[in-house]
Amino acid sequence: MRQTIQKVILLVLAGSICLVGCRRLPPKGQFTIDGGYRQVMGTFARVVAVADTEPQGRSAIDAAFEKIDAIEQCMSDYDPNSLLSKVNQQAFRQPVAINDELMTVLCASMECYCLSGGAFDITVGPVVQLWRQAKKNDAAPTPKQLEQARQAVGCQNLFIDTEGQTVQFAKEGMFLDLGGIGKGYAVDRAVEILRTAGLKGGMVDIGGNLRCFGTPANGAEHWLIGLQDPANDENILLKLKMDDRAVATSGDYRRFVVLDGQKHSHIINPATADSAQSLSSVTIIAPTAMAADALSTTVTVLGDQKGLGLIESITDVEAILIPHSEKLSFEKTSAADRYIMAE
Ligand code: AMP
Ligand code: MG
Repeated sequence: MRQTIQKVILLVLAGSICLVGCRRLPPKGQFTIDGGYRQVMGTFARVVAVADTEPQGRSAIDAAFEKIDAIEQCMSDYDPNSLLSKVNQQAFRQPVAINDELMTVLCASMECYCLSGGAFDITVGPVVQLWRQAKKNDAAPTPKQLEQARQAVGCQNLFIDTEGQTVQFAKEGMFLDLGGIGKGYAVDRAVEILRTAGLKGGMVDIGGNLRCFGTPANGAEHWLIGLQDPANDENILLKLKMDDRAVATSGDYRRFVVLDGQKHSHIINPATADSAQSLSSVTIIAPTAMAADALSTTVTVLGDQKGLGLIESITDVEAILIPHSEKLSFEKTSAADRYIMAE
């Protein structure tokens, strides 16, 4: 058995999970290439390749980032020229033609809306916009503004025509926000690019939405993912061992605004138009990054009891939650322990 020669801990600033390097000597003719951090989708992304040659790894990493950039150009609600923005501007007046990628994400979002009883809802955009504005103005929206925005929320008013490949809104003022699912989708597509390039293994992380496959980096036995302490980024609470899995963390501790002494996170409960309150961090382990992304946002809205109940009912998906409390504690689904590395 080759000896562990070095331990490196690399922290992703934007997310609350990170790749933890536990290195052994890699076999001859196997290269781990770390593409480093690049800014995409309003956060940081990182791609790691395990390749036969260094050039093979580097060109796969570049191709993966190109794919991520293309998805951002399609699905960003910040970019007025994105396809998503075209939908937001025009879909109340007429059906808007969309591409396969946006169709896939909209259909998956609709599925998660139904599965979660409306807790995950990409039409929450008007309310998200109000809270974003509140952060800029340093003043909470008025109850009247929130109620008005809430009127335009609800996936029952979103019509997706899978045959005609179009989307249409039934209510004026509707606005789609893919912030809770788009990064996961981009991770899955980037992983597809790495696999197609013939890599032995790889990892893609976009702001705490991460997926790995195949041979782990640096000759390690598994891909090791660190779950960061919501109260202190530098503290790794748990190490998760992953093989061909995705993991995503949502939480209210990094992106929030304090107004009138009250903390409001960026995750909205569509039923109340206020932010989801009860959980500090929600980590979901799933076969795809899109599922992990959408479900981590969903469970943040649902809270621990309903959230754990939902995840228990889904095959091959596990959850690790950290509730708000003075003392650090975990709540987990029944099979989550199989991913947690014993110290
Ligand atoms: P995440 O960090 O993956 O949990 O996603 C949070 C982002 O999802 C927010 O910044 C919003 O853009 C969007 N979002 C907020 N609340 C919801 C919700 N209830 N359903 C779907 N997306 C949401
Ligand atoms: Mg999410």
